[in-house]
Amino acid sequence: YASLAAVDPQIAEAVDAELRRQQSTLEMIASENFAPVSVLEAQGSVLTNKYAEGYPGRRYYGGCEYVDVAEQLAIDRAKELFGAEHANVQPHSGAQANTAVYFALLSHGDTILGLDLAHGGHLTHGMRINYSGKTLNVVPYHVRAEDGRVDMDEVAALAAEHRPKMIVAGWSAYPRQLDFAEFRRIADSVDALLMVDMAHFAGLVAAGLHPSPVPHADIVTTTTHKTLGGPRGGLILCRQEYAKKINSAVFPGMQGGPLEHVIAAKAVALKIAGSDEFRERQARTIEGARLLADRLSAEDSAKAGVKVLTGGTDVHLVLVDLVDSELTGRDAEDLLHSIGITVNRNAVPNDPRPPMVTSGLRIGTPALATRGFTAEDFAEVADVIALALQPGPDTAALSARVCALADKHPLYPGL
Ligand code: PLP
Repeated sequence: YASLAAVDPQIAEAVDAELRRQQSTLEMIASENFAPVSVLEAQGSVLTNKYAEGYPGRRYYGGCEYVDVAEQLAIDRAKELFGAEHANVQPHSGAQANTAVYFALLSHGDTILGLDLAHGGHLTHGMRINYSGKTLNVVPYHVRAEDGRVDMDEVAALAAEHRPKMIVAGWSAYPRQLDFAEFRRIADSVDALLMVDMAHFAGLVAAGLHPSPVPHADIVTTTTHKTLGGPRGGLILCRQEYAKKINSAVFPGMQGGPLEHVIAAKAVALKIAGSDEFRERQARTIEGARLLADRLSAEDSAKAGVKVLTGGTDVHLVLVDLVDSELTGRDAEDLLHSIGITVNRNAVPNDPRPPMVTSGLRIGTPALATRGFTAEDFAEVADVIALALQPGPDTAALSARVCALADKHPLYPGL
């Protein structure tokens, strides 16, 4: 029963060092966030000890009375928050949630439409060597070259030509809202199922600041750790008619014992996501991304060859286009890292540079909004990034500005 530091000082040191890294830098990876202490507490609890194969009230193990309480709360809160008929809170991750849906509702070789990975889609939407791409016949759709928006005419044409069993809508790198009603109309025109993967924007949906896919889609999947701000994990929402198939695809189809400590933490995060404080935080998240997009498309940025895809954003991220810049995506990622800002390089559609180099950056605001950044702080971050991406940046001065912002908003002060 000794402490982590006593039992394993090497791991304790790695954990401490990671805490210090998170505290002293500005986290702008669009898929990351800072889970509140209440979520960390639930996730680090004794619920990790419990086997609970099955579902609340129908377990294959004894002693599940308390994990049943936690899992039922998570289910009820997910249904209420998103207005869904059914929720499965057991997927260990977003990728497993998506794979479970395919496993539940499709057969090997069935056709799906999904947004091309190189145009902002996710690995599980049909990438060649992902399980989805290996087992399904994937027809990718794209964003339009002229404005970077998803080409709904192409989606309609591909659906008519290939008659998919399922259309997957959702993205990992796209700065705009999707037209769920139009996806539904196209799916209905060919009798396809519609799955929306809202992993990135679930928090915005929960806050009512982004249209909900739930009324339109047969199935909605999400992660719980991005804008939603909870523990690392997945979640499936669906219409009642698919509930049984989804549940049995998750367990026993794909997973064994659920991670009840993570499920309890999901319940906490879903409770928080219904609060006014959460809504206000999501509003700052979107406002921060807009400020960033404005600053990065200003005249001096344009002169340095820096633009933002689609000319702006409606969500929590900005995609920087460096095709005309001397900086590559990798250079820009390294440069921002050197001044204490963490982002990831990202290919832009039809990227002329190789995938390990790329010509883009994906910059997100959820983690800083959680940290308490205001519009004024985001304007300062935007200025720092814009200056860093211009030729000959004064990195020492920019690092000092980053430190000042980090100091202004202490992270996990009690830890
Ligand atoms: N779906 C989308 C749209 C994502 O962006 C991601 C993660 O980046 C996932 C699914 C997968 O989530 P996880 O990393 O939890 O498997």
